[in-house]
Amino acid sequence: MASLESRKIGILGGGQLGRMAQEAASRLNISLTILDQPVDAPAKQINAIQPHIQGAFTDADKIRELANSVDVITVEIEHVDTAVLFELEKQGKEIHPTPGTIHLIQDKYEQKVHLAKHGIPMADALDCPDDASIQDAGQRFGFPFMLKSKTGAYDGRGNYVVRSSKDVADARSHLAPGAPLYAEKWAKFDRELAVMVVRSVTGEVQSYPVVETVHKNSICHLVFAPAQVGRGLTGTKDATFAHSIAERARKVAEDAVASLAGAGVFGVEMFLMDNGEILLNEIAPRPHNSGHYTIEACHTSQYENHLRAILGLPLGSTAMKVPAAGMLNILGNGDRTYLACEMAYSIAGATTHLYGKKECKQGRKMGHITVVGDSMQQVHSRLLPMVCALDPADQ
Ligand code: ATP
Ligand code: MG
Ligand code: MG
Repeated sequence: MASLESRKIGILGGGQLGRMAQEAASRLNISLTILDQPVDAPAKQINAIQPHIQGAFTDADKIRELANSVDVITVEIEHVDTAVLFELEKQGKEIHPTPGTIHLIQDKYEQKVHLAKHGIPMADALDCPDDASIQDAGQRFGFPFMLKSKTGAYDGRGNYVVRSSKDVADARSHLAPGAPLYAEKWAKFDRELAVMVVRSVTGEVQSYPVVETVHKNSICHLVFAPAQVGRGLTGTKDATFAHSIAERARKVAEDAVASLAGAGVFGVEMFLMDNGEILLNEIAPRPHNSGHYTIEACHTSQYENHLRAILGLPLGSTAMKVPAAGMLNILGNGDRTYLACEMAYSIAGATTHLYGKKECKQGRKMGHITVVGDSMQQVHSRLLPMVCALDPADQ
């Protein structure tokens, strides 16, 4: 046996998710070939010896070239060319998750239509092909409501909060010109939750603990694992109630993923409403920002389990191996960008991950810090100075 695993994986996209998948692959001698435009894409930097492919993950010829050099194809981003993936699938290429799933998820509105058919609870949504239908959404949902780009969305860049009927023209010009849009009723949530679900090609399914995600300007800012649900919610601190919320969140996530074909890790974002109701927000068909913490805090990280899942290897335990963990995203912010990372050197339980991105644009995800602790209280106290260093207003 030349190696433990001889099958080669090709991945569309070489950003930070690909980089962390590469770290997991390296430990297992798994060969990962990356398709992305920059020669120094974050994932390529840490395995430069591999003959990676230079090209866009939307370039059909480059995707075919990748397919010719690997056994299994996967993605670290959903905004890829699916037409060629369908073609490769027909030719018998193994692609995870399936092109059908990636294609469905690319369109957030179609994703919702599909999930609604499967009985998954979500905020009401309305297709908005023209300005009249956007006004109609205001009538139906009241204000504010969220106007969303159906496609190409990430980090909240395809979202616009419509506060009154006067905002409609502004909303259109703010979102990409000509982008297909839909409206979503405002979810007055108590907090946001996420669950990573992993399904192997063998059909085995495992879920990671329910985590709490905190967004700032629609970008993931903090993650706490496990979610401290029930705390302060409609006045109850009842542990059974908290447990039932976590169980229901896990069930919604698992049911949603069960409605989608293909193997790998899926990130399921949810809203926990004031009344304890759980609504699904959206699904990512790949490892997810809310699962970065699994590297330090779980027996098997989401990245390693993604590789195991698409190769049909036994899944590793998704349980936490520490009582509590927190994650802070490091976003581009001029001179303040790396302040928290400097502090992390002297904070027990803190691990810094930087992604090797050369250009530090405002708001760009440059890295993250995971903090583990003996209790959530300890995690909070370890994280707080770093959170405040990034933005004193968060004190
Ligand atoms: P991602 O980077 O996770 O792919 P995205 O650009 O697809 O994000 P969404 O997940 O739709 O955007 O929304 C980003 C954030 O905006 C949510 O996490 C939530 O904080 C807020 N948000 C989205 N939809 C609603 C809604 N209907 N009501 C209230 N807040 C919302
Ligand atoms: Mg999204
Ligand atoms: Mg989202």
